[in-house]
Amino acid sequence: MLTTAINHGVMVDVLTKTRHQRNIGIQEGKIVQISDRPLEAESVIDANGLTVSPGFIDVHSHVDGDNYAGILSVCQGITTTVGGNCGCSPVDLNAFFREQEEIGFPIHQAMLIGHQTSLRERAGAVDRYRPATKEQVEKMGILAEKALQDGACGVSFGLDYVPGSSLDEVMELARICERYGRICPVHTRLLTDKDMYSLYELFQVARETKVDILISHFVYQYCNGLVQEGLRMVEKARREGLRIQMDSGMYTNWTTYFDTATFDLANIQNNHWHWEQMVVATGKYKGQIMSEELYHHMKKEYPKEAIIFFEGEEQEVYDCLVKPYVMPSTDIGAYAKGEGHPQIAGTFPKYLKEMVRERKLLSLEKAVYKATWMPAQVFGFAQKGEISVGKDADLTLFDAEKICDKADYPHRGAPDARPEGIPYVFVDGVLTVKNGEYTGACSGKIIKK
Ligand SMILES: [Zn+2]
Repeated sequence: MLTTAINHGVMVDVLTKTRHQRNIGIQEGKIVQISDRPLEAESVIDANGLTVSPGFIDVHSHVDGDNYAGILSVCQGITTTVGGNCGCSPVDLNAFFREQEEIGFPIHQAMLIGHQTSLRERAGAVDRYRPATKEQVEKMGILAEKALQDGACGVSFGLDYVPGSSLDEVMELARICERYGRICPVHTRLLTDKDMYSLYELFQVARETKVDILISHFVYQYCNGLVQEGLRMVEKARREGLRIQMDSGMYTNWTTYFDTATFDLANIQNNHWHWEQMVVATGKYKGQIMSEELYHHMKKEYPKEAIIFFEGEEQEVYDCLVKPYVMPSTDIGAYAKGEGHPQIAGTFPKYLKEMVRERKLLSLEKAVYKATWMPAQVFGFAQKGEISVGKDADLTLFDAEKICDKADYPHRGAPDARPEGIPYVFVDGVLTVKNGEYTGACSGKIIKK
């Protein structure tokens, strides 16, 4: 007998981009039956009125084994997350994989090896404003190869956080990635927030190495009036045959840690940023708007907190996500309860609500495709991203008429408020969200390449 049947739901077929009423049978973590007739099983879910989608794949996260970030992910329909982004990953990926497999996790995790924390610093290049030496670059290459052999799905860069890193470093690591058939997600280097050279740098890497590049959280990099121009540049590069895709979220206001190069006084001054554009996301001053006094006080006493930076036009979010080479992503990080940025709980429901239901910029099928099958192809997750017999039973059931985000910025509401309209999520065939609540299941696996 089947373990679970999901009956009467409307299943999204991402391959044909169509929807049909189907009944789905699950056994031992796999989809084993898709039928026109309702199925019998030990446990039966009545999905009448619900859309049955492959579980969402979040291509840009910093979940990295943080349990609460895993729970917030699955509650917004994500069943697989790609961590280790922006050049920051656990230093020893092998140890991380072992630990996660032992303790279990709410969702599946694939990992990138981070240029900054796991290669550069380990090779001895600890000054973020100075290029690595030739010997250090060689050592970074050896460490990168080891991580790719251990199962990392690529090398991530956060060039913004290591302004001193040389193009040689990036080229060398990109070349290794290409040799292993892996991807390079890049949080681009922004010398000022009008910096378009950062894109040319990537095109040069893509041209010389032929590597697959994923530009991370594009709107966070180029809002502030540059999104249209950035998109035109990327499209020209793609026409040239460069292998460039991107991910982007549902917000223009981004967040990062106070002690990064981004919030160095010189960078704030170079960009002519105002204090009122910054809101503290975590810790003692959560929800407070920045001032000069608070800035200097926090730099001294609380440099580890996260700050949200407000800029950009909402329209840029839609202009970006409607493009066929862009996938939705959260940029979710690990925060304490009640802290952080609304992207941690709201991204995917907001995406379906705004892009599909409210603005009709994407059909439901197309939107689901960009959140499931497309990322599975880009990262080579052969068992994920579609509902077919034999594939992993990662499934997200949502109400297309009701799905919506409830999360808000910390000076206005709760950044981790759960969304509405996602009653059931299955991870590896295990019911991990039931009636919108996390069940405590930890059936997520490590995905090694
Ligand atoms: Zn980033």
